[in-house]
Amino acid sequence: MAIATVNPATGETLKTFDPLNAGEIEDHLVRAEQAFQEHRTTGFAYRSERLLAAADLLEADLDSISRTMTTEMGKPLAQARAEAKKCVKTMRWYAHHAEELLADEHPDPADVTDSGAARAVVRYRPLGTVLAVMPWNFPLWQVVRFAAPALMAGNTGLLKHASNVPQTALYIEELFRRAGFAEGCFQTLLIGARAVEDILRDPRIAAATLTGSEPAGRSVASIAGDEVKKTVLELGGSDPYVVLPSADLDKAASVAVTARVQNNGQSCIAAKRFIVHTDVYDDFAARFTERMSALTVGDPMDEHTDVGPLASEQGRSDLEELVDDAVHRGATALCGGRRPPGHPAGWFYEPTVLSGIDPDMRIHHEEAFGPVASLYRVADLDEAVTVANDSPFGLSSNAWTRDPDEQARLARDLQAGGVFFNGMTASHPGLPFGGAKRSGYGRELSGHGIKEFCNMTTLWYG
Ligand code: NAP
Repeated sequence: MAIATVNPATGETLKTFDPLNAGEIEDHLVRAEQAFQEHRTTGFAYRSERLLAAADLLEADLDSISRTMTTEMGKPLAQARAEAKKCVKTMRWYAHHAEELLADEHPDPADVTDSGAARAVVRYRPLGTVLAVMPWNFPLWQVVRFAAPALMAGNTGLLKHASNVPQTALYIEELFRRAGFAEGCFQTLLIGARAVEDILRDPRIAAATLTGSEPAGRSVASIAGDEVKKTVLELGGSDPYVVLPSADLDKAASVAVTARVQNNGQSCIAAKRFIVHTDVYDDFAARFTERMSALTVGDPMDEHTDVGPLASEQGRSDLEELVDDAVHRGATALCGGRRPPGHPAGWFYEPTVLSGIDPDMRIHHEEAFGPVASLYRVADLDEAVTVANDSPFGLSSNAWTRDPDEQARLARDLQAGGVFFNGMTASHPGLPFGGAKRSGYGRELSGHGIKEFCNMTTLWYG
């Protein structure tokens, strides 16, 4: 895949970049290693000052970086601004909380004595340079949610960003440098996916984090496994959105639209499978479909646009194939199911609601990465749980019910890294984020995220 900015709203190639050659990659690795040896000895106050500076700089750049993101991957401009603001918030959160999150732990004195020690301490020390392989869909957020805790923990980072967001990738490297982090603490590598293996095998790389598709995750994890290096994987999702009779139906239908079409439908934690109790199915389906049909599809730079183009032509073809397969096998498109008229150049697709989904349809098992919702009618809570869990993915889940017994059952049985009741899944700096099953492993954000790339060290004093 060429490293280039191609505007998805027009299909126009705006800028291309040459990938780094072997010598340039080596220079980056040398700088990263040198920077780590220095950065790991700095204190929290030093790191915090720089991360707060980065947050201030990003806040000042909000409009320009948001426009860059929208130009590179097509998300509506208001959503790009919201993404940048969330990054500012998360940088400040880690700048203020990292020291406390990584404070020394003191084991129970009885256990210390039992081990024969006078005292013992558990300390979170940095691991080294972490290779971050990141996707284009939240091109700033995915990187910042890794970089902010990693830098605060004393690690250094090398970013291999998706090939279609090179300008955003270069901006992030520059942001950390301008904020005062030493040369080499956080660098962007403009490289294709094939260059990842050699870098990951290099002894100067301590660990890797990948956010992206299952095939990419499998490849990185198997190479890292071969090298016995820690990985965190944040992969795809096909999150269920369960609606039961006690739900506030209007709110559930309204939030369902946002949960499905946020980021033009290209979010790992978007609700994708809407599993509705038969008593409220018709009412929910009507309200949901009406709202999905009313969305404005168009130029993502236009403040009135709800849904912009898909990020790539391939992404739209993949989505079309999933919808066509479902319709061919008997599903009904209650709305959408085609490219919107009037946008010949960009990679647009109409917000779509499919009903009558069967397990033999590809969309039942695969992730629909675009504004396409699958509706399921279920007879009761048991069937809702069965359908919700009938997916290879287990990223997050959503459930609408005001019944405490139903909530307890869903909290126990939904196979996912999150269960969001009466609201949609979203990530927050203070809450752990990550999946189960084929959605990956490990957690980002919160104290759990910052500890993923730490060497938890037992200090034993005899
Ligand atoms: P992708 O193809 O896997 O790309 C993601 C990154 O991995 C890109 O930098 C890509 O580089 C690189 N890559 C691809 N194949 C690779 C390989 N074999 N070895 C090493 N690196 C490789 O993912 P995508 O389709 O662009 O992104 C969408 C996917 O990401 C969806 O499945 C979505 O659900 C998932 N996602 C998950 C989360 C989460 O937090 N769980 C968040 C966002 C997105 P190139 O661009 O150069 O190919």
